[in-house]
Amino acid sequence: MGKPTGFFEIPRELPEDRSPRGRINDWQEFHLRLPEAKLQEQGARCMDCGIPFCHDGTLLAGMASGCPINNLIPEWNDLVYRGLWREALERLHKTNNFPEFTGRVCPAPCEGSCVLGINEPPVTIKNIECAIIDKGFDEGWVKPEPPEKRTGKKVAVVGSGPAGLSGAAQLNRAGHRVTVFERSDRIGGLLMYGIPNPKLDKKIVQRRVDLLAQEGVKFVTNTEIGKNVPAAKLLKDFDAVLLSCGATKPRDLPIEGRNLKGVHFAMEFLHANTKSLLDGRKNGKYISAENKDVIVIGGGDTGTDCVGTAMRHHCKGLTQLEILPKPPLERAPDNPWPQWPKVYQLDYGQEEAAAAFGGDPRKYLVTAKRFIGDENGQVKGIEIVEVEWQKDEKGRFVPKQVFGSEKIFPAQLVLLAMGFLGPEDTVLSELGVERDERSNVKAEYGKFATSLKGVFAAGDMRRGQSLIVWAIHEGRLAARAVDEYLMGRSDLP
Ligand SMILES: Cc1cc2nc3c(=O)[nH]c(=O)nc-3n(C[C@H](O)[C@H](O)[C@H](O)COP(=O)(O)OP(=O)(O)OC[C@H]3O[C@@H](n4cnc5c(N)ncnc54)[C@H](O)[C@@H]3O)c2cc1C
Ligand code: SF4
Repeated sequence: MGKPTGFFEIPRELPEDRSPRGRINDWQEFHLRLPEAKLQEQGARCMDCGIPFCHDGTLLAGMASGCPINNLIPEWNDLVYRGLWREALERLHKTNNFPEFTGRVCPAPCEGSCVLGINEPPVTIKNIECAIIDKGFDEGWVKPEPPEKRTGKKVAVVGSGPAGLSGAAQLNRAGHRVTVFERSDRIGGLLMYGIPNPKLDKKIVQRRVDLLAQEGVKFVTNTEIGKNVPAAKLLKDFDAVLLSCGATKPRDLPIEGRNLKGVHFAMEFLHANTKSLLDGRKNGKYISAENKDVIVIGGGDTGTDCVGTAMRHHCKGLTQLEILPKPPLERAPDNPWPQWPKVYQLDYGQEEAAAAFGGDPRKYLVTAKRFIGDENGQVKGIEIVEVEWQKDEKGRFVPKQVFGSEKIFPAQLVLLAMGFLGPEDTVLSELGVERDERSNVKAEYGKFATSLKGVFAAGDMRRGQSLIVWAIHEGRLAARAVDEYLMGRSDLP
């Protein structure tokens, strides 16, 4: 255990973020680092509880309570407290292939279930995780570790998000020859083209991709399986296939004016912006929010990233519409510890909008009724209406529009960020793989085998749009299932 009295003596402390007004003038990461001595103190707050709830990602009320990847949190907290950073790094890599991603963008369900969090602010687990791996890279401790022996088996991984990458890393470690196919021009899935650079610097993603390449993983970009290359060819050329194409079909809003110019899916906006940035803004092919009134529809992570990106384009005004009620400031009675705390938070994008425009840009309990266009077919406004959640005849809560509450807002750019409906059809239709009732790939958790022999599925494609940490977890477990299929047994964790 860290320091037996640490949690009494030391208050929770996180590094400061760069100021919201300043950071919207660039695309650099906004989190700063805590000095090492302070991090050791924060590690000392861990109580090494008899039952470390933080370490077990059990689903409670549909959300993870604790770390889905079972990070050995109390162990590395103690090692950090004692200044044994290299040992902490070893422990961290035992369960997590990519702590530099989760340490930056994970919503940290571990902290929601930290026992100290019952009556004190929880241990800063996510920040300590990030500090361990950042130090590992700074010190040159993270090196390519190619396998000693090759098995002679070949595995194709389709999709290079966190599920595909962790699957590839583990399968390569087991000695198989792994080729990752990606339809985009860069590797990383939503790590590269979903989450914007200020939250996760793309150099950090590329650094890990380069390491995997040095370990022997082969990456093929600009190749859409089921389109440029038939999926059937993979079945012929490889001994097993792991599908990890994500759940990228966006939810649409088919209301009046949907086809107007200036109404876009969030991912069209985010992907093009990051690509253009990484290409040095040479092609200028991105949707600019500069000097526009922007409406973001949807209050989740995707919506927040649209807000942060529009702020960096220097939009004129910004409103974010959320159909759900505003969450409470503290846990509600039906949301007790160790469940994921559903409480009000000002995320980075909203913080920036608040600093520039004087308040949280979110409007709760509202929905869009129609988009209004000008004579050139360009969106110029949006009509919104308040909603009330009422039970329907089957007892389900549904949003009912409040008559007479309509309002019109100016809008020259509207971004639809209302979630995702499951995986795209291309590769699945060609293979004829079975889908579940939510249209995700049908593959039992733990086995990850699809209805087609030798074809496995992991990540959002199997569980629906979720989190980076779940995708890493599924990629790892699916790799073990593939290894067992190929070799009859597996030593992978
Ligand atoms: C904007 C946004 C922000 C998010 N922010 C966070 C966050 O802050 N924290 C968090 O934990 N989670 C976040 N998420 C969720 C998280 O990104 C996903 O749960 C995670 O990336 C899923 O990983 P995956 O590997 O299953 O799929 P993805 O990351 O979606 O990767 C799938 C890849 O497959 C490729 N592909 C698809 N079809 C084919 C094909 N036929 N051939 C070849 N390649 C193909 C795609 O181009 C893509 O690169 C966010 C999601 C979005 C959309
Ligand atoms: S991966 Fe997420 S849940 Fe697990 S320790 Fe890190 S921040 Fe916590």
